[in-house]
Amino acid sequence: MPELPEIETVKLQLQKVLVGQKLLSVSDEKYKSLKYKSVKEIRREGKVFLINFGPNLDLGFHFKMTGQLVYGGLPTKHTRAIFEFTKGTLYFNDMRKFGWVKINPEFTKTLGEDALDISTHKFLKLLKELRKPIKIAIMDQKIIAGVGNIYANDALWESAVNPRTPVNQLSINQLTNLLKKIKLVLREGIKYGGTSLSDYVDAFGKNGSYQDHIRVYKKHGEKCKRCKSIIKRIVLGGRGTYYCPKCQI
Ligand SMILES: [Zn+2]
Repeated sequence: MPELPEIETVKLQLQKVLVGQKLLSVSDEKYKSLKYKSVKEIRREGKVFLINFGPNLDLGFHFKMTGQLVYGGLPTKHTRAIFEFTKGTLYFNDMRKFGWVKINPEFTKTLGEDALDISTHKFLKLLKELRKPIKIAIMDQKIIAGVGNIYANDALWESAVNPRTPVNQLSINQLTNLLKKIKLVLREGIKYGGTSLSDYVDAFGKNGSYQDHIRVYKKHGEKCKRCKSIIKRIVLGGRGTYYCPKCQI
């Protein structure tokens, strides 16, 4: 599932080409109020991608499992929405159909502060009393927005914290360090243009390359890059969870 770095990559690319362009046609009646309006700004809130057309007028996209937002080229059999601008066309493709496209999505109001922007002070305040496992807490979009399964697993490995540890059993130092590592892996994800392990492509249909830099996600059975123990897989909160049983304690 695309996470913060994947959506940020698409945002940075589309900022350069879409801002200032006028929307000429839409594939569905429900977007017709945006017709002939110009793109003012491109934003990201957590994992939500937003095209702003003026005061309180956003077109929001959630990629969920298999969403893609591709500028140029041709529609595919998985294209769910088409937006034709003056200089090019934007396609929202989604094979599994869990994603959505909405005008002024209410969903963004439920999001916590962005994982890249949140201060240590705020992070500690929100987390330190929680009893749930740390991995579940950092993936809760209402607490901090943008972290999904790939980067949560990798950030926990970087900070040598076991994903099952109840948050309130972690020290202030451990939590402070974890936030640093969350930001580190997210920034690295952006630097490599996101993770293309399954369906994710960028706004020009190209793969990212963070999959070549993954620490533990889906690396069960392989050796830990730090201590050479074998990476384990468990299921936590219904999600595959990967960690080193020796150095993540
Ligand atoms: Zn290890």
